[in-house]
Amino acid sequence: MSENTVTFPNATIEGYPRIGPNRELKKALESFWKGRIDAEEFRSAARSLRLSNWARLRELGLTEDYSIPADAAYYDHVLETAVTVGLLGGADEDVALADYFTLARGNADTAPLEMTKWFDTNYHYLVPEVGDDEEYRPRPQRLLELFTEAKDAGNVVRPFLVGPVTLLALSKQAEGATTRPLDHLAKLTASYAEILETLADNGVEWVQIEEPALVADLTGITDAELAELAKQTYATLLAEDAVRPSVFLSTPYGSLNAGLEALAAARPEALGVDLAPQTLKEAPDYLERIAATVDKNTRLVAGVIDGRNVWAADLRERLSVLEQLKNAGLTVTVSSSVSLLHVPHTVANEPNLPVDVAGWLSFADEKVGEAVSLSTALNEGTVAAGEAFARADRAVRTRRESARVHNQAVQARVAALPDGEVKRQPSFDERVEAQQSLNLPELPTTTIGSFPQTDEVRKARADHKAGVIDDAAYVQAQKDEIASVIELQESLGIDVLVHGEPERNDMVQYFAELLDGFVVTENGWVQSYGSRCTRPPIIIGDVSRPQAMTVDWIAYAQSLSDKHVKGMLTGPVTILAWSFVRDDVPLSVSADQIGVALADEVADLEEAGIKIIQIDEPALRELLPLREERRQEYLDWAVRGFRLVAADAQPDTQIHTHLCYSEFGQIIEAINDLDADVTSIEAARSRMELLGDIEEKFTSGIGPGIYDIHSPRVPEVAELIELLTAAAQHVPAERLWVNPDCGLKTRGYEETEASLRNMVLARDHVLANVELKHTAPVRA
Ligand code: GLN
Ligand code: ZN
Repeated sequence: MSENTVTFPNATIEGYPRIGPNRELKKALESFWKGRIDAEEFRSAARSLRLSNWARLRELGLTEDYSIPADAAYYDHVLETAVTVGLLGGADEDVALADYFTLARGNADTAPLEMTKWFDTNYHYLVPEVGDDEEYRPRPQRLLELFTEAKDAGNVVRPFLVGPVTLLALSKQAEGATTRPLDHLAKLTASYAEILETLADNGVEWVQIEEPALVADLTGITDAELAELAKQTYATLLAEDAVRPSVFLSTPYGSLNAGLEALAAARPEALGVDLAPQTLKEAPDYLERIAATVDKNTRLVAGVIDGRNVWAADLRERLSVLEQLKNAGLTVTVSSSVSLLHVPHTVANEPNLPVDVAGWLSFADEKVGEAVSLSTALNEGTVAAGEAFARADRAVRTRRESARVHNQAVQARVAALPDGEVKRQPSFDERVEAQQSLNLPELPTTTIGSFPQTDEVRKARADHKAGVIDDAAYVQAQKDEIASVIELQESLGIDVLVHGEPERNDMVQYFAELLDGFVVTENGWVQSYGSRCTRPPIIIGDVSRPQAMTVDWIAYAQSLSDKHVKGMLTGPVTILAWSFVRDDVPLSVSADQIGVALADEVADLEEAGIKIIQIDEPALRELLPLREERRQEYLDWAVRGFRLVAADAQPDTQIHTHLCYSEFGQIIEAINDLDADVTSIEAARSRMELLGDIEEKFTSGIGPGIYDIHSPRVPEVAELIELLTAAAQHVPAERLWVNPDCGLKTRGYEETEASLRNMVLARDHVLANVELKHTAPVRA
């Protein structure tokens, strides 16, 4: 039992962005990796950032002891925890900085750990690998260092760990291992217990342990089984006789099912739950279940501030949620639903947003302010919270009434769409007939869209934005680039060409800047993984397309070749997945609106003579709900949004789509359901493992990527022949396409040219030497 006397703070947050308001951590990391600064300079840069973050959080109102989470990480908090508890990093007392980064990034001899999306967010964590009989060496030093460093600067912070159940549930079995990661739970829990004891011995009174795995339905284990494991784990960890700090156990990213009883039964000193508006919408009985289940001696840390989105909270509505819990007899702390690492640092960094829009938004710092105001209001009344409630009321009202949000014409158009399934006519088989007119060769070769983004291309875009070059000079620079990309593809003998996407900074941001209903930020960086950040656009209202967005570039590219050039669009689901979305309408409404806006683009491309159009949906898997029972509903609207884009395309217009970065097994039927004529899909890294699924469940054209574009390595012709031959055994020749795994924009020209040359050679070899499988008798 913990002996401490410090009560848990009244206001806190689950976690805070680590990258820095000016991306200080990114800069330090990249300078260190390039050898421009040494380990000491890197550590010192990271330390100054931490200290300034903690100082800022105090200024924003997190003044109580233990209200600031010490969730700093050099690269990733999962890696950080895995090294701390000894799941990674070997048996030595210390893990050198170089070894830490080798785990994350690999080196000449070692592959990096795999990276995967963290729950249904756009953040990627490193996946620990767990072997059979490892010893876990606890390394509490870093937690103590952070604690002491903050204390010396006047802040008592809260050490942070990902919990043992989540850490193992998200790990993968090492190659050759016969045990599953969760088989090691008891042993790993002992390491956590040792860490807690060391922390207690050093005067730490509260620690945060995060267990989000309990809010998701994972493959290979049921919700009840996982809850049972958690129950046993925390019975041990929180046992009466354990020497340890008080424990704040948190469960972000959704609602607990069986996990609620399990964790409540362990009676942690504080239990954190996600009470974001969206979470409560999906689990309307969650509040009642919490009130009925959580022990009155456990402090309830109510994550009422939505940490995954950028909208200012409706403070009055949020206060009523807190009051319900308080009235049920619980002692309540106000917190964020998830770590604020998923939102940018501060709206104050966005001087160019329209003022009304800026007033509707809350990034990390503003959300801290909201938590503090709500806690004041809960304990002392709304008047004590000062201006905050009046400001929030105004934001709610002006946003509800704003013409930026509501576009009658768009609403009417979407309301007139048929409910339910949207179907392109005629059927796939008849379209295949119509598309004979495209005169494509057998096993056609193509690429996914982007070509290497050279320094000149980036500079032309930046100079144009900065006003250094005028529109005409910019257009000319882009046309030159497009012409050279077309020429290169012609010389390589590729069958279906692309324009190379030189005009696109990012496949979502490009469209967000051209569509109405979006705003983009200047400094709204969010960590995606390691030093990589993205700047998600914000969907503020009804979406429409004021004018064609891609037609000029594609039509120009098409004018340079007799071969077909693919039109290139980003689909509705991916635009939603990589943007901050509206919270005032369901996602399906925005999906429909973006769907019809893109359908107009398809019509314009057809008008301009484009016969093949690709609609990328790489993020289809990523928005899949964490709970199984909600997945079908998601897939229904996601598939519908995509189909709206293609619904009115002419039968002889060939619609392609592209997906990547995911385990497709779960959604292969939904991909087939998109009803594209041709789908290209990432497959090379898994050595075409998905071919079995494709053979069984896929009925239209398919291009399983035959080489991995994530590495600069040029694939040999022989290995490409092998993969393509494997594909040809599962897919009939008239449906099989030949392409790389994904776009080429992160590659250099040298390796791109060599790889594509080998790809065409491999295709030629297979055509000449391999007996191909056909569905229909070959026509004479
Ligand atoms: N058309 C895009 C490109 O080639 C697709 C990128 C992606 O799948 N992420 O860059
Ligand atoms: Zn891709």
